[in-house]
Amino acid sequence: MPTDQLLASLARVEWIASSPLCTIANRYILRLRARHYSEHTIRTYLIACAHFSYWVTGLDLDLDHINAELVTRYLQQHLPVCNCPPPRITAIADSRAALRQLIPLIPQPSYGAEKVVTTPIQRELIAYHHYLAGAYSGASWAPIPFDRGQ
Ligand SMILES: [Zn+2]
Repeated sequence: MPTDQLLASLARVEWIASSPLCTIANRYILRLRARHYSEHTIRTYLIACAHFSYWVTGLDLDLDHINAELVTRYLQQHLPVCNCPPPRITAIADSRAALRQLIPLIPQPSYGAEKVVTTPIQRELIAYHHYLAGAYSGASWAPIPFDRGQ
């Protein structure tokens, strides 16, 4: 069965389609098939991923925020108290196995990339850091004398 037909046949395909995981769903199926998972297992894992997608969508997270730590949080904190609408998979072992195959498909942020500063406080601290670095860039690390207006 083609990957798009398999996805379309899921009871909760909209949970994946409306989540950040929609961009990697086809690759997820292809990954499992390349590893010779049975169609039954692939369908079970997709249902588990649909449940995870529903939870992620509720958190309003982007794809680049999905990582192993988030999966652990889902497995340990959400599944034991899950109140999501059925049908869903809440078995931790199946969910863990399904999501373990998902994480390698998520693009990771490149190391060494410049960190984006988002808050005014962060920008102010970095500006102050640059100010101090400029003020102390001379021959020694002497503190700037405190001027009391005398
Ligand atoms: Zn749930």
